[in-house]
Amino acid sequence: MKKYCIILILLCFAGNLAAQREFVWKPEHTEYWNNQPPVVTPGEGVKPPSDAIVLFDGKDLSEWQHADGGEAKWKVENGCFTVVKGAGDIQTKRMFGSCQLHIEWRIPAQNNGQGQGNSGVYLQSRYELQIFDSYNIPLYSNGGAGSIYKQAQPLVNACRKPGEWQVYDIIYTAPEFCGKGEVITPARITVIHNGVLILNNTTIKGNTEYIGMPAYRAHGRLPLLLQDHGDLVSFRNIWIRDL
Ligand code: MG
Repeated sequence: MKKYCIILILLCFAGNLAAQREFVWKPEHTEYWNNQPPVVTPGEGVKPPSDAIVLFDGKDLSEWQHADGGEAKWKVENGCFTVVKGAGDIQTKRMFGSCQLHIEWRIPAQNNGQGQGNSGVYLQSRYELQIFDSYNIPLYSNGGAGSIYKQAQPLVNACRKPGEWQVYDIIYTAPEFCGKGEVITPARITVIHNGVLILNNTTIKGNTEYIGMPAYRAHGRLPLLLQDHGDLVSFRNIWIRDL
């Protein structure tokens, strides 16, 4: 009986091998025609791609408000807007989650010795990508331009000198939380600064804190926020794509 079982198993094995040999892969077996990606027309020069939400096109702050919901009182002039010291942080009226963000910023040319060029891009109002005059001013490595403030330092310092426009191109993946509010998947961020990769799929550890360790507090979609740190940092050409 045992001998017949072994023969049967061998026959089955041989049959499977024969069946496998009969299948011949063709190019079309791995060519998928369904679910074509949507068409997006790339922007020319500094113009945004066709599916982007334009958050500032040089004209007004209609997409923005004070972080308390009041009027955004930063100064719009010459195609850009600038922090007004003491006017407070501003944030978008729209809410965002995971996104691609393009934002250009400039520290005043006369900044040397008169300010630190400190501002910041707060993803979802909570996680600060630092803006700072790291061309001139030494600071702790996880606190200068391109850092996730007090959490992660940039791979390199790609700063231009004050007075020159700089660019952050950001890919941001929002954190995910369980029903009890605990973080399941932390936020992640990739940043290209002036064409140079400075953060590569970096994990964000939680809310930005000046004192103490970062920690997550559950949230959904939230505004993008720009920091008034008292320095006259300017912004222009801001657009965002939902991911
Ligand atoms: Mg800052």
